[in-house]
Amino acid sequence: MMTTHIDSKPGLTDGESALSSSEYIEKLRRIFDKYTSTKFFAMINACVNCGACAKACHYYCSEEKPEHIPANRIKILSKILSDYFHPIKSKIGLGKSQNPMDNPDFDALYKAAFEKCTICGNCALACPMGINTGDIMYMARALLFGLGRLPSGLIDPVNTTLETGNYLGLDKEDFIDTIEWLAEEMEEDMGEGFTLPIDKMDTEVLYIPHPLTLRDLPFLLMDELKILSAAKENWTLSTHGFDVANYAFYQGSKENAAQVAGNPLAARKIINAKSLALAPCGHGYRVLKHEMEKILGERFDFPIYTFVELIDQYILDGRLVLEKDLFEGPVTYHDPCNIGRRGGVIEPPRRVIRALTTNFVEMTPTGVHNYCCGGGGGLASTGSLGHIRHRMGKIKADQIRATGAKTVVTGCFNCKNQIRDIAKNYDLDYEVKSIVEVVANAIKL
Ligand code: SF4
Ligand code: SF4
Repeated sequence: MMTTHIDSKPGLTDGESALSSSEYIEKLRRIFDKYTSTKFFAMINACVNCGACAKACHYYCSEEKPEHIPANRIKILSKILSDYFHPIKSKIGLGKSQNPMDNPDFDALYKAAFEKCTICGNCALACPMGINTGDIMYMARALLFGLGRLPSGLIDPVNTTLETGNYLGLDKEDFIDTIEWLAEEMEEDMGEGFTLPIDKMDTEVLYIPHPLTLRDLPFLLMDELKILSAAKENWTLSTHGFDVANYAFYQGSKENAAQVAGNPLAARKIINAKSLALAPCGHGYRVLKHEMEKILGERFDFPIYTFVELIDQYILDGRLVLEKDLFEGPVTYHDPCNIGRRGGVIEPPRRVIRALTTNFVEMTPTGVHNYCCGGGGGLASTGSLGHIRHRMGKIKADQIRATGAKTVVTGCFNCKNQIRDIAKNYDLDYEVKSIVEVVANAIKL
């Protein structure tokens, strides 16, 4: 399904004319039935108003306002669900008939779901009742998607991916040209006649890059490819799928998310690779590794890795030998929410960083409890929401300042950009680096 425009104002999905009030409500009911479950109702009705979630949410920790308490976001959705879909009231005709497009409660829900929650899941770890406001706000996004209400930054990239297979609209020739040029650039380091494999059949690993590195950050991509080559991995890239990102997931549309994720999954099948390895991208990893099996209702019979997991294994196996202390310490690590808390990848990046520095310092809190950087949930892709993510980066700035770090390492493009912006906005003096940069620079060839 293609979608069009719309920041804070109501709008329509492509090709649709305005629906009647009852047609909108029926549409919402279909989404509601599809996305809810017994677990969802248990969560939404279980809040005991203890307030424990507040201190887990980077919004509240950055700006102590009641609207930033996770439980208060749930109440907005609860009220709408009760007004429109109460199991008893709706049956005897007392459900609300107001057109959702004219109902200000949906404006509040839009802000709560798309602007005031990055779906990071930290509140769930603090809640004694196991309520995950992030999952509940994801349901809110699905309802809003049904009304055609989306931030602009979650529309064009998805439409472009649905049309071209990657969110920047690069074609296969662009892709092949870039990879061939990179191979030439790498020849000096890697040896004469060095090539980079494309569409090689039956490899152990299919590597899915981030299109931004193909277009704008080729030296970062070179670092990734250098690591695979130096570890002597049996790997390939593929013209059939070269975009790890999946902004469709953040729209709240599982259909669009499945279609976008279908590209790397199909590429693996076509070239018969034994596994997928993904460029550092938190949400891309979450969707492919942890969401797609649920969405498709099938188990994958191949592993999916975020790149740092492979790098960690290469170091443990002695396939990569690294030089230590090449960059300034203390060094700290920011856990991308979708790789750490929601992805379970906590120790591999730490082992990798300890192989690179003698001066590693943890943030507080860290690991599964680490705060979101403030740019997650698709916020970083919408320019007009920049002021929000800058304000909500305050707690991350406080965490980094307390470590005294001169280098912040992370494993996600969005996090990296947000943490770079945090340094500027909060007058902090550190460099932020992708984990692939620090590893690639330290490889002893
Ligand atoms: S921690 Fe859980 S129970 Fe307590 S206020 Fe937050 S959502 Fe409600
Ligand atoms: S999921 Fe994250 S951003 Fe959303 S309410 Fe919970 S802690 Fe806050």
